[in-house]
Amino acid sequence: MTTGPTLDVEKVRADFPILQRTVHGKPLVYLDTAASAQRPLAVIEAIDGFYRNHNANIHRGVHTLSQEATEDYEQARLKISGFINAPSEQECVFTRGTTESINLVAHSFLRPHLQAGDEILISWMEHHSNIVPWQLLCEETGAVLKVVPMNQHGELEMDALEEMLTERVKLLAVVHISNALGTINPVAEICTLAKQHGIPVLVDGAQATPHQAVDVQALGCDFYCFSGHKMYGPTGIGVLWGRYEHLQAMRPYQGGGEMIRHVTFEASTFNDAPGKFEAGTPNIAGTVGLGAAVDYLEGLGMENVAAWEAQLLAYGTEKLSQVDGFRMIGTATNKAGVMSFVLGDIHANDVGTLVDLHGVAIRTGHHCAMPVVQFFGLPATARASLGVYNTFEEIDILAEALEKTIDMFA
Ligand code: PLP
Repeated sequence: MTTGPTLDVEKVRADFPILQRTVHGKPLVYLDTAASAQRPLAVIEAIDGFYRNHNANIHRGVHTLSQEATEDYEQARLKISGFINAPSEQECVFTRGTTESINLVAHSFLRPHLQAGDEILISWMEHHSNIVPWQLLCEETGAVLKVVPMNQHGELEMDALEEMLTERVKLLAVVHISNALGTINPVAEICTLAKQHGIPVLVDGAQATPHQAVDVQALGCDFYCFSGHKMYGPTGIGVLWGRYEHLQAMRPYQGGGEMIRHVTFEASTFNDAPGKFEAGTPNIAGTVGLGAAVDYLEGLGMENVAAWEAQLLAYGTEKLSQVDGFRMIGTATNKAGVMSFVLGDIHANDVGTLVDLHGVAIRTGHHCAMPVVQFFGLPATARASLGVYNTFEEIDILAEALEKTIDMFA
């Protein structure tokens, strides 16, 4: 149990220019970090600095700017690899984000040897980006998508998972932290179980990398996917980490410049990973921004980030439960800073619209995880999600806004 603040939150807040603004005349209370985090000045300036001083295309040029841009790009890869404790930066592929990372694995790793009757295992609490790519593959190949159930707290049924790990399963794809429920899944344990059956594991880490230290080697997974914009970096950039032997054995995802070694009209040969998967001119400035976001998070210390958000979550859970009609959706014992809820029988969209009038930004809807809201028999939930810049006072403001909302409908 943490006993005191682990971050100087006022100092952190000063790093985020957008937190100075008002919404409907009220100070912005940003509680939608799970959808997209805000960016610290260090990230904004890194991107600005790149365009002002080093902008050029990478890898192809002999001129100074091109070499500097290449250096920045590869430096970002190195930082990211250290951030997730990858054995080598060559295992970190730049993508557009988690969604593209998962699609890449679906097309290049799984599809070439998937056959009718094979199974792909996912969990009930997946984001659509870890459902739909597998459904498309199943449609094409006759493979079957199987779903590991969860309990009423939003925790995976581990006994069921173990039983479902049969020789028919060709991949297990599971979310590390649920964006809709906040559940932190026991990924290391899951990987150990899967490994006993020789089943490769893909982990959707979109909600984990911003909130806790991630060590891909300790987790024991085969692929780990995440997005820059969830971790205080830019949109349009993300990472696929994969074991090198997998990446080397995989087909390219897209064809084009950069990913080739030699091209004739008869045939082409391809680069080694990660270049093989980075066809075309990439989001160079995005990688620079993501590298700056990694520096920023490492400067705060991921243990401090996790501890701060744990305190906020404990406070928020207690505080919001005192609001009339408040019901938390997602009550896992091991939970990150996501508070999904319903308020009486008020539609979540109305809740979101009304708290916005108090300057409070929360998410409403199905959170791109429709099966989760269906599981709880709801059309939608409202969701307050936490980041490094949130404070206890902001949770009080949300609680007050919710109280006013419920009064309006009384
Ligand atoms: N997985 C989870 C758990 C998410 O929360 C999200 C985004 O909300 C995604 C995947 C998709 O991320 P992106 O849209 O950045 O590709």
